[in-house]
Amino acid sequence: MVKEQIEARGITDARVLQAMRNTPRHLFVPKDLEAMAYEDRPLPIGDGQTISQPYIVALMSQLLDVEPSHRVLEIGTGSGYQAAILAQLAAQVYSIEIIPKLASRAEALLRQLNYTNVRIRLGDGYLGWPEEAPFDRIILTAAPPTIPQQLIAQLRPGGKLVAPEGVSQQDLVVVEKSKTGAIQRRSIIPVVFVPMVHGRN
Ligand code: SAH
Repeated sequence: MVKEQIEARGITDARVLQAMRNTPRHLFVPKDLEAMAYEDRPLPIGDGQTISQPYIVALMSQLLDVEPSHRVLEIGTGSGYQAAILAQLAAQVYSIEIIPKLASRAEALLRQLNYTNVRIRLGDGYLGWPEEAPFDRIILTAAPPTIPQQLIAQLRPGGKLVAPEGVSQQDLVVVEKSKTGAIQRRSIIPVVFVPMVHGRN
């Protein structure tokens, strides 16, 4: 998977490639799809949600440019796979999931696999995790119509955010906050993600 789908498409970050090699993706997909876990595609994980295509996980991880000392916020825990990759790149990962069943399943799996530096919270990612802000890096794995200001506010000066953005047409976007707080953004490629929904609370 790493050689043919990820290195072949130009992902070069050695730490990202190593994390992808180390992570047993088949444990993060439903049992009946286990045989397809290393294929070049997203897969359903229940409740209408998906685990992203491996290449997209690698691309987003590389764009996020995570350093070993970093505290990273993820919105959309889903299966916990992206969180497991981030756990190997960062000091601490905070991940928020809005669907209770997915949050508890991912939490149990990550604990079982000994990823001790991931905390999962059941809640609405639009609010971020203010008690733990600011974050060095923020990644969204569900697409909001526009990147929420509240999340950009929880980014440390010098920080980066990577997210799919848009409704019918989505782009993968990198947002950088300079040391002085100036915001710069660039679009990378068109993508297809599940929508980031609003909580009912
Ligand atoms: N990173 C995941 C991909 C999950 S798909 C993985 O590696 O498997 C996106 C996830 O975002 C879904 O599980 C969905 O329930 C969740 N989501 C959607 N809107 C959300 C919100 N407002 N807050 C938190 N999670 C949200």
